[in-house]
Amino acid sequence: SAAQGTSAARPIRLGMVGGGQGAFIGAVHRIASRIDGEFQLVAGAFSSDAERSRASAAELGIDPSRAYGTFAEMAEQERGREDGIEAVAIVTPNHLHFAAAKAFLEAGFHVICEKPVTAKLEDAVELEKIASGSAKVFVLTHNYTGYPLVRHARAMVEAGELGAIRVVQAEYAQDWLTEAAEHTGSKQAEWRVDPEKAGAGGALGDIATHAFNLLSFVTGLELEAVAADLTSFVPGRRLDDNDHALLRFAGGAKGMLWASQVAPGNENGLRLRVYGEKGGLEWAQENPNQLWWTPFGKPKQLVTRGGAGAGPEAARVTRIPPGHPEGYLEGFATIYREAAAAIRAADRGEGVPDGVVFPSVSDGVRAMRFITACVESSKADGRWTKL
Ligand code: NAD
Repeated sequence: SAAQGTSAARPIRLGMVGGGQGAFIGAVHRIASRIDGEFQLVAGAFSSDAERSRASAAELGIDPSRAYGTFAEMAEQERGREDGIEAVAIVTPNHLHFAAAKAFLEAGFHVICEKPVTAKLEDAVELEKIASGSAKVFVLTHNYTGYPLVRHARAMVEAGELGAIRVVQAEYAQDWLTEAAEHTGSKQAEWRVDPEKAGAGGALGDIATHAFNLLSFVTGLELEAVAADLTSFVPGRRLDDNDHALLRFAGGAKGMLWASQVAPGNENGLRLRVYGEKGGLEWAQENPNQLWWTPFGKPKQLVTRGGAGAGPEAARVTRIPPGHPEGYLEGFATIYREAAAAIRAADRGEGVPDGVVFPSVSDGVRAMRFITACVESSKADGRWTKL
């Protein structure tokens, strides 16, 4: 039942776009892709700068002939190799996701892409068409869907244990952009506050998308309309750094989403609360091995990862016994393990295997519709805006 060592097959050959020296999430992908032994990184276009790409490749022990100056060159060259890559991980700033994902899908590779799926809604819609018209797998790394207790929460909602959902409260609060990015000297901050690179949303694309994806994943609710109030608190900042949104879902459920990068004291404060007719659930990613289940009129129950009552959906993606903490890297690795299962099945001409769950390009499109509606609503002083 545990997630480790699922396959006796050889590792899937992986390429990477982005994730060079000094980058953040590329290194996380490299760790996550190795945890279950399903992938081997063999090529990369690691940087916008060809020299830096080669230097990064050397540090990672990549064959110098497979350290590329551009991702287009990598797609072209790797397609022609007998031992070429089979899948690519795209871990660049947002504005490059579309071109890279398109290039690799069209060259016949599976794609594992960072969120937000693209910087523009129309690109996301086009990418969805390209992906669904190909026989390749598209995985969007909304990694928080990989936590065992998030899987358990989703299963409880699906099984009707909460009854009809009435209220959803989602938030993702951080503090690292409390001051102007120019003063942080951060590579990560620089592109995130630039609309040319980040897209129409600042905190919206960066973290509200995670909160939105998480609430959608757990509740299965479809968002119908938003009323949003987006703010750029830091003087001169061109993108939102604090977002409030009221949410109306199909079927009548209501929600609120708060995302902030200017809330001092908050690190990666992603939190979800879901309330139905029969009970509530509360989960927070900084303490991901615990889930509160509060059946109405009964004592609260603390469900722990691997502990009593954590169901089969959680057990499937649980690696070690309860009480030994699992966290961000294991959750991320679960996305890679699900990706591997889907990729191996696709290569046999089969669909996604039973029980295998991962966010895909359609979830990316949904999040882009959410971002677009929030921006439109906020410009109209918070008017209710349909998706
Ligand atoms: P970063 O600035 O640290 O790294 C970006 C990397 O892309 C750098 O190595 C840069 O040189 C490289 N790059 C830029 N242009 C390139 C090009 N043309 N070809 C090849 N490489 C190029 O950014 P980051 O914080 O790692 O974020 C990268 C992406 O990951 C973003 O889309 C972000 O939204 C996403 N992200 C997701 C999570 C998560 O939890 N899932 C966390 C952080 C970031």
